[in-house]
Amino acid sequence: MVNAKLTQIIYELIRGASLHLPPDVMNGLRRMAAIQDTPLAKELYGCIFDNLKKAAELNRPICQDTGALQFFLKAGTGFPYLNDTEDSIKDAVRQATKKIPLRPNVVESFEEKNTGDNIGSRAPWIEWEIVPDNQDLQITVYMAGGGCSLTGRAKVLMPLEGYEGIVRYVFDTITEWGVNACPPLIVGVGIGTCTPTAAALSKKALLRPIGLHNANPKARDMEERMKKGLDSIGIGPLGMSGKESLLALNIEYAAHHPATLAVGISAGCWATRRGKVLISKDLTVKSDK
Ligand code: SF4
Repeated sequence: MVNAKLTQIIYELIRGASLHLPPDVMNGLRRMAAIQDTPLAKELYGCIFDNLKKAAELNRPICQDTGALQFFLKAGTGFPYLNDTEDSIKDAVRQATKKIPLRPNVVESFEEKNTGDNIGSRAPWIEWEIVPDNQDLQITVYMAGGGCSLTGRAKVLMPLEGYEGIVRYVFDTITEWGVNACPPLIVGVGIGTCTPTAAALSKKALLRPIGLHNANPKARDMEERMKKGLDSIGIGPLGMSGKESLLALNIEYAAHHPATLAVGISAGCWATRRGKVLISKDLTVKSDK
């Protein structure tokens, strides 16, 4: 059942994410713009900031591709509106598509017809995580654009390929496909047993704010070294060459089967749009950061 108050909170979450970049992405873009030393790269970052300014002035989404919407929930077992949550998310997406407006991007599979309201089979995508002994609901929205989703890959490596195999796969994927994702990029890398776990973890890696590293020193070292290597290639803003190409490279991992090492890759573009809200059991917003 739709809960109007919950729908309104989720609508505002979607609206905020479509109109404004998260502070960590803005800061990352400012830093990248400041280090450019060629007229072309400077001009391209100038276009990005003009685009952001215009979107804010005109109250319009940052990019024409407002993506397919994905929601990542951390739900306390004591949150009283769990039964209403999915219906309220869908209602918020319907309203957002009409009012903000968002571009209708959802095409029903096999019918190959646009549904017109960004709702379809398993769309929006909703992932649940249950939090025991908790009464809040945290919702993260991610707007998955077409170009950045094109860079997504997952593969199970042969056992002896090891971590070098992961690095090779990430470098091959980003050098071949990264330009489709409107760099500078956030690269999410997931490691696990099979493609579904690795791919899911790579998307979770994209949700981590820029500047935060994996708590495991070995994973952090790999994040920093892969970022440095990919930055040195010179893909640059929009793939037109420049200093550094990645806003971040984040790794999330799960323990894996000894015979397999799966790697998943997700990419976020310069317009990485995500937002988070923490809702208390009386449907007040505790935090929107
Ligand atoms: S990759 Fe990002 S910035 Fe480029 S068109 Fe897609 S959503 Fe927009």
